[in-house]
Amino acid sequence: MACPICSKPGVPAYRPFCSKRCADIDLGRWLRGDYVIPGASQDDLSSDMNGENEKNSGEGLDSRPKRP
Ligand SMILES: [Zn+2]
Repeated sequence: MACPICSKPGVPAYRPFCSKRCADIDLGRWLRGDYVIPGASQDDLSSDMNGENEKNSGEGLDSRPKRP
């Protein structure tokens, strides 16, 4: 499996990365929010705090406001 950071062959110890450095780079991207997870936007937090009407629909994902 190629390292997703630098595309070099990965090593088992840091799979799928090739080194701890690349693993740290990937982790850093996660922490900084460079990776956008569809359907898990940060707006969820503020929505919960505001107590918007989406709570009424329970787990209705379709009621989530869509931001362009
Ligand atoms: Zn790498």
